[in-house]
Formats: sequence, structure tokens, C-alpha cells
Amino acid sequence: MVHDRSSALFERAQRVIPGGVNSPARAFRAVGREPVFIRNGEGCRIWDCDGNEYIDFVGSWGPLLLGHRHPVVVEALREVLDVGTSFGAPTEAEVELAELIAELVPSVETVRLVNSGTEATMSALRVARGFTGRDVTVKFVGNYHGHVDSLLVRAGSGLATLGISDSGGVPAAFAGTTLPLEFNDIGAVERAFDRRGNEIASVIVEPVAGNMGCVPPRPGFLQALRDLCTKHGAVLIFDEVMTGFRVALGGAQSLYGVMPDLTTLGKVIGSGLPVGAFGGRREIMERVAPLGAVYQAGTLSGNPLAVAGGLAALRHLRENPGIYDRLETAAARLQAGVVGAADAAGVEITSNRVGAMLTFFFTGQQVRCWEDAAACDTGAFAKYFREMLGRGIYLPCSQYEALFVATSHGNGDIDHAVACAADAFASMAR
Ligand SMILES: *Cc1c(COP(=O)(O)O)cnc(C)c1O
Repeated sequence: MVHDRSSALFERAQRVIPGGVNSPARAFRAVGREPVFIRNGEGCRIWDCDGNEYIDFVGSWGPLLLGHRHPVVVEALREVLDVGTSFGAPTEAEVELAELIAELVPSVETVRLVNSGTEATMSALRVARGFTGRDVTVKFVGNYHGHVDSLLVRAGSGLATLGISDSGGVPAAFAGTTLPLEFNDIGAVERAFDRRGNEIASVIVEPVAGNMGCVPPRPGFLQALRDLCTKHGAVLIFDEVMTGFRVALGGAQSLYGVMPDLTTLGKVIGSGLPVGAFGGRREIMERVAPLGAVYQAGTLSGNPLAVAGGLAALRHLRENPGIYDRLETAAARLQAGVVGAADAAGVEITSNRVGAMLTFFFTGQQVRCWEDAAACDTGAFAKYFREMLGRGIYLPCSQYEALFVATSHGNGDIDHAVACAADAFASMAR
């Protein structure tokens, strides 16, 4: 596989963009090669600028549940081009999107649209502080909530891959408002509330962790968080930026039957355009300006083009709920196939999966928290990644990310990926 044009573009990019990329996870650093530059996508396939074809299991890191250029999304975007792309004024479509989110996400009564997942979590934390009059946020090690100053503490994914656990440029006073605890360790949360219950404004959690690889909650973990927050008057925030409309139509909260006070959304709700949202109990959301004293704003929030893409995708999902059964079947097929191939080759892996998000960890142990994930053989992962890329399978370029199955992956695509994995494992075992 030739990557001459990608290499040339990467050269140029590095001269004018820090590290040549606009988001560090794209840089392929953890897998020991240069990134490929993508030219176009269709369904579950993408093509790079050298014309190489790949089956895509990244899906823009989650948003593309329907695959690339789904007709209902493309059509909706075309219609917006005829009427105008931004007004900075209220529009009918944003009301429709808010109504649809409130209808589909069980705990959401009112919702504010923003432009990214980071904005959503940043705003949710602020509202939780304004509502409780407290400052401390509990987060979990290996959970990532965007590049919010106070949340770049033990934040998994890109940070783990780069080998920095805390970002530069974050005042100690900000980081000091965050209390990082081990994911899936309810005893640690109980002790924190015992000691500092009257300081804790919120507990923010990825209900299914995706940014240390896919790590499901232990049975009872989310309900225990719910009970502790209720008991101590803290706001429970589910960061469903990755899991929303991904693990189920109503997100992880509907899958596990646990209702947070606030929910943050992103990724799938924009279907590839920049949309985020935070919403929840009316009483809390009424603290947001212009109703309340907690300021939050955005020039392009509720942007017509972005909203149209998201609205088209969510309507399609609501009208075709069978999609989630098909995603479950396809993702289970991929999981079973790859695990079987690794076993056959004598390569040790463990897989975690919830619906259409899954991770193959290069370890023989169960992965239930960051410490488990950090024990994986990242060198073996990097080799596997390069072997798969060379066979036309595009995977997330870090051990600490989930891969995503889309509605556009057919059985043939899944089986082809499994066959490539079998070849990759065989060449690794040699
Ligand atoms: C991706 C992600 C974010 C950040 O969203 P951006 O749109 O990249 O700012 C926040 N939380 C979770 C759980 C995510 O997966």
C-alpha cells in the first residue's frame, strides 16, 4: 500500500499545524507511523488521498452511526444550503431537535444545544456548581470528558496515549476542584462522600467508559452513584457524548435503567456535524441564562446546518428502532470472529463490548478500570493496528479507544475484517 500523498501532506501540515493535526488522537503517534489523509467516504468505506480503500471502524470517533453520507443526512444538508447556514437567531429546526432529544433520552426535560462534547461537559459542570453552590467535581480515572480545564485530570484516551496524565496550562486551583476516583469502585465514591459530601457539586461519569477502551459499568455501579448523589444532594451527570444514541436509542441511561440529573450529548446527535447538548431536570436547567444566573452562550449554537444533520439522523433512528438489534448482531459477529482468530493464532486478547462499541485489549486479564487497561501490551496493539491498516481495515489508532460498528457494515464487511484480523494475528505470532 502506497502512502506518498499522505506523507507529502503530513510534511506540509507539520509546517503550519502543531504536530500536523487538529486533534492529537489523529496523529497515529502511539502506533508508530504517520497518519493517512482521508479524501472521501461512502457507507462503511473511506478512501485516502493515495486512493487506498479501507473499511472504517472509527466512524469519525463515534458520530457516524449511520456510516458516511447516509442519504437522509445528505438530503437534509442540501435543503439547508438553499435557505441559509446561520442566523444567530432561533429557528424551527432547533426546537424540533430539542423536542426529539427530550422525547428519546429518558431523563432529559429541557436541553441546550452547543457545538461540541467539550462545551457540553464544561457547561454541565458549571450548572451543577451554580445549582448546588458547591465546587468539587468527582470524576473517574480513565474517563474523558473533552478538554475542559478541570477535567484534564487522569483522563484516559489521547492523554494516556501521549503519556501525559495531566495537561500543561491547567492552573493547580482548577485541577484541585476535581477528585479523581477509580472507575467501578463504589467504595471509593462512598468514602469520598463521607469525607467531603458537603463540597461535592457533581459526579460526572461515562456510563460505559469508551476513552480507556470500552469498559462497561459493573452491575450496580451506576445505581450506587445515583443513590449516593441523591443522598448527598450532588448532581449526577452522565456524559453520554459517546454512548448517546450509540448503545441504545435512549443511551446508556435507558439501557441500564438509571436516571442522571444531567446528560451531556455529542457525536451521534450531530451525525458528523458539530453538535453537542446538555440537558436534564427542568429545575436544574432553569439555572441557565437567560432564566438563571449560570452564563452559557454560543454564536453558532443550534447552527441550522449542524441541526439539520442531527435531526435527520435521530428521526431516522426513531423511525427504525430495529437498527439497534442489527448493530448488536453485527458487533457481536465482529467480536466473536476477532476473538476466535486471536485464539487460533495464540495471541492473547480480551474484548469488552456494549452494543456497537467494543475494544480488543492486548491482555489476558479482564479490563474493568484504568489500571487494568494500562497493563495492556500497547506494542502488540501497535503492530496489530499497522497490520490491519495495511490490509485495508481502518481502526482507532490507540489501544485506549473503542471501535464502532455502523449500520452500513454488512456481514460481508464484518467477515472480511475478521479474515484480515486472522492474517494479522498470524503474522504477529510468527
Ligand atoms: C468525545 C467525547 C467528549 C468530547 O467531545 P468533543 O466533541 O470531542 O469535544 C466528551 N465526552 C466523551 C465521553 C467523549 O467520548
